[in-house]
Amino acid sequence: MAKDFAVIGLGRFGGSICKELSIEGKQVLAIDKDESKVNEYKNIASHAVILDSSDEESLKEIGIKNFEHVIVAIGENIQASILTTVILTDLGIKNITVKAQNDYHEKILRKLGVDRVVHPERDMGRRIAHNIISNNILDYLELSDDHSIVEVKAGRRMIGKSLINLDIRAKYGCNVVAIKQGKMIDVSPNADQPIEEDDILIVIGADEDLNRFEKHLVFDN
Ligand code: ATP
Repeated sequence: MAKDFAVIGLGRFGGSICKELSIEGKQVLAIDKDESKVNEYKNIASHAVILDSSDEESLKEIGIKNFEHVIVAIGENIQASILTTVILTDLGIKNITVKAQNDYHEKILRKLGVDRVVHPERDMGRRIAHNIISNNILDYLELSDDHSIVEVKAGRRMIGKSLINLDIRAKYGCNVVAIKQGKMIDVSPNADQPIEEDDILIVIGADEDLNRFEKHLVFDN
């Protein structure tokens, strides 16, 4: 039977993935070439091994092929990250997630056919930047190069008006997919319902449409 997860590289990112997966009750093999890192995760992950993942034989020996999902969280050593990824794809592992250090690294990983390339520092920087621009932008998630989902506080101009009144789809080309009121979330919001002061809207759309929507309806609170 396939095993759950292997996390290669136990820096801040890989370490936190390892912890969260373990909290979720998943079987996790923690891997690092640094003994002190491996010792740190011995009691957190199901198993922890010292190993240089750029060495194909070592990876084969621990049966990496049997893992359902492998996360490569080696950051600074781009060469080791790429080499490890090549070995994993060659071995036919289906689910590989790799942390990219920069755009160049990301491009190579995509060329290697990695299905999930993550860029946590860049993404977090973007999310924080959006929140700094306006306190009303609570969260921001990039879906592709030009589409995102934003979570915004209802702006002053929205309050008391319904989605039909605001005509967001026609005017701004984006869609309100859910409205949160406290702990309640309405995933197919009633278009006739007036928006209330503390409502939070989750909106999906092309970045340029979302920018117009934010400028007209969210920033001016
Ligand atoms: P973070 O920002 O997540 O803390 P980082 O991006 O700075 O990490 P590094 O510290 O360079 O990334 O690498 C993360 C971990 O990967 C380190 O603990 C390092 O020992 C481990 N690592 C690097 N190369 C290899 C390798 N070839 N095999 C196994 N582990 C490796």
